[in-house]
Amino acid sequence: MSVQETTLEIHLDNLQHNVRQLKKHLKEGTRFLAVVKANSYGNSSVAVAQYLEKKDLADEFAVAFTSEGIELRKAGVTRPILIFHPQLVDFEDIVRYNLEPTLYSKRLITHFIDFAKEKQLHQYPFHLKCNSGMNRLGFSVEEIDEVCELLKGHEELKVRTAFSHLLASEDLQARPFMEKQIALFKAFQKKLENHFSHKIIYHNCNTSGILNYPEAHFDMVRSGIGMYGFANDPRLQKDFKPITTLKSIISQIHTIQKGDYVGYNFGFQAQKPMEIATISVGHADGLNRIYGKEVGFVFIKDKKCPIVGNVCMDMIMVDITGLDYEEGEEVVIFDERHTSETLAETAKTISYELITSLSRRIKRVFIED
Ligand SMILES: *Cc1c(COP(=O)(O)O)cnc(C)c1O
Repeated sequence: MSVQETTLEIHLDNLQHNVRQLKKHLKEGTRFLAVVKANSYGNSSVAVAQYLEKKDLADEFAVAFTSEGIELRKAGVTRPILIFHPQLVDFEDIVRYNLEPTLYSKRLITHFIDFAKEKQLHQYPFHLKCNSGMNRLGFSVEEIDEVCELLKGHEELKVRTAFSHLLASEDLQARPFMEKQIALFKAFQKKLENHFSHKIIYHNCNTSGILNYPEAHFDMVRSGIGMYGFANDPRLQKDFKPITTLKSIISQIHTIQKGDYVGYNFGFQAQKPMEIATISVGHADGLNRIYGKEVGFVFIKDKKCPIVGNVCMDMIMVDITGLDYEEGEEVVIFDERHTSETLAETAKTISYELITSLSRRIKRVFIED
């Protein structure tokens, strides 16, 4: 598709393809939770969740913040929505919008119990976060008995799932540590089974966990990056298709002479006559300043054109010397062949960071064959 302005194309068929690829790794009956936080990793959480729900590709959803869950409910998403990182002030909204909080600290649990009593809730579902070594959120295995005692006899709320998170599931060198984390999660499971008679859903794996630790899928898996087309592993990448393409056009071309500068703060000085193309995407759109000064690049008619000078808030300038392009020519910032992962690597970062920071002002177009 040709574009007339900076446009993020979201290929929903690729999304479907990726989910089906991930599901090939699951045993029968394993639930699939689609992680749609951070605007679905920069895509559009509403469109992605609606599509996955319509196609019956996800059993449930997760987002990080309560506001993200509210946005999904307002758009008519009906499946369960887990909130990874709620705060005390969120409880009203969580219940109003039928969202399900993760309870990760004693402070949060005691307040939620009080809140649930006051609101006369009955078996309100929540998720218990187990800390198996990431030391980010969750209860330690030493605390878990006490937490269960706290919950005992409270019919107002009910632990629906319990989960933990692997801290380096994509790094095959880290297997011994991951195995310790998995064993520890099993210890959590045992303790929880002693305290509760109802069936709790256990889950421990993100995308790389799904691919690398089939023995640790438990009852459900949680995928984000894999759905969006990245396997975090060159050997498995062929099975996945990035779902987004970021394109723009050349807004203007300048012919400059030896000694001329480009952009802010003398960030680039020409050593010879050059042609410079200006493109309307900048650090406010997620293309951070680190990509400037010939670190990052774009593709124009399959030719690699480095970003020269400093990245501006709303623009970059690229070198097209000798390429005979015209204003209006299409520019690929990333697509299936020149992926956001490759671009992110130039800045020594990961695809997650680049794609999740794509600004909302970039036009989104959804493509479904
Ligand atoms: C973001 C997140 C995920 C998704 O991870 P991917 O690597 O994108 O699959 C899963 N679980 C938790 C707790 C997360 O915060």
